[in-house]
Amino acid sequence: MALKQKAVVKAASIALDRILKYADKDPEKNFVKILDYAEKIIGNGLYPIENIEKMKKAAMDPSNIYTQLGKGILRDIDRDIVHHFLITLGIEGGYFGTKQVRANREKYKCNIPWIILFDPTSACNLKCKGCWAAEYGHRQSLSYDEMDSIVTQGKALGTHFYMLTGGEPLIRKNDILLLCAAHPDCAFMSYTNGTLIDDAFCEEVKKVGNLAFALSIEGTEESNDFRRGAGAYRDTMRALGLLKKHKCLYGISVCYTSKNFSYVTSDAFLDAMIDAGVKYAWYFNYMPVGHTADKALIPTPAQRKAMYFWLRKMRNSATGKPIMVIDFQDDGEYVGGCIAGGRNYFHINSAGDIEPCVFIHYSDANIRTHTLLQALQNPLFMAYHRGQPFNDNHLRPCPMLENPDALRKMVHETGAKSTNLITAEDVDTLCGRCDDFAYEWAGVADEIWRTTKHPKTYTSYYRDGEKGLRQ
Ligand code: SF4
Repeated sequence: MALKQKAVVKAASIALDRILKYADKDPEKNFVKILDYAEKIIGNGLYPIENIEKMKKAAMDPSNIYTQLGKGILRDIDRDIVHHFLITLGIEGGYFGTKQVRANREKYKCNIPWIILFDPTSACNLKCKGCWAAEYGHRQSLSYDEMDSIVTQGKALGTHFYMLTGGEPLIRKNDILLLCAAHPDCAFMSYTNGTLIDDAFCEEVKKVGNLAFALSIEGTEESNDFRRGAGAYRDTMRALGLLKKHKCLYGISVCYTSKNFSYVTSDAFLDAMIDAGVKYAWYFNYMPVGHTADKALIPTPAQRKAMYFWLRKMRNSATGKPIMVIDFQDDGEYVGGCIAGGRNYFHINSAGDIEPCVFIHYSDANIRTHTLLQALQNPLFMAYHRGQPFNDNHLRPCPMLENPDALRKMVHETGAKSTNLITAEDVDTLCGRCDDFAYEWAGVADEIWRTTKHPKTYTSYYRDGEKGLRQ
């Protein structure tokens, strides 16, 4: 780490400690004071302070959901964990990492990600319908040294945020804790079914401070256990209770399907999650990937449309709920469409194959034969780089689900191989499951796109010329 960066991180750390002391005393009463203090520190040129001004105004309004969420984080989450995440995501990754990522994109003329996902293992102790991990069996794992190398290489590119997917990552919980301790300048988040979370593990999580969770859950007990198996709901609620007791940072991961849509978007579900201390909910559209995929589970165009408006209602400061709700398929307008192929993230499976996205199981590079930078410059990721955005309507972002011809073309032209760990999945078969949905959604999505306002996106494309589409 450069000396200046070290000095800034240290100064920010000391200042943040002072801010959080207020929170320890009385988070409710001191919330505005905390923002006042943050304004003084943040106003040193690291970030513009307009957002703090807006937050201070909102903080005066107890009915504002973001005020409730902010106070809830200060009240419910362990102070060291809040400290770690603000420093790793806000300063190491958000400020210095972003600068480094942007410089490396120009230097290497390829995508450089802000986040890297990897699967510590393909093993999973559940067998959820339609989950590719259920097909992979219990055969593949990354070694500790390989995981450490991924993070070390990533940091050299500017990446400070790592998400653990699988399989069930917590089958490797001891190695994960070691990895978090070895890289205190990074934030880690593990997707998990929660079954392996216990008191002793929560205590270790508090010691490292830089590990958060997203627990898989899909609505009520009935809708959840339909896909995840009998007893899964009860196990997840038990894990949420433990994480709450130990003041860990955690959210949920919700795969929404045509079958569970009404359950996972119900007030009852979100209210139960808020009561369980959940601070964020990542929603994922069901993707028909793998040999057991069922295309009837893809949410219908009418459900996707309802999802678009429901999300915006839930995030509205007056009509929403104190939980951060994000759907990667319907929120493409904030990030300029597809973020895969290293544009903002990529995925490494438990066999070391470097894939564009957690849902796109094709690759032309492996961590055992390529560096991360080489993979980013290989034909498949460069095809993403050139092709993004795959659609100018960011409600149709995906080269598989909404633009299946784009994935067919990239895989055929680059010669990327299927990385399905059991039997190769032909790209034409996979994309064939998406053709009907892509066609039916196009008209609905275009109508929404024409009739609603869209934010300016924060990320760039590098294929655009000076007068082109660069955003
Ligand atoms: S490939 Fe599809 S699912 Fe993956 S990030 Fe891009 S749009 Fe999302």
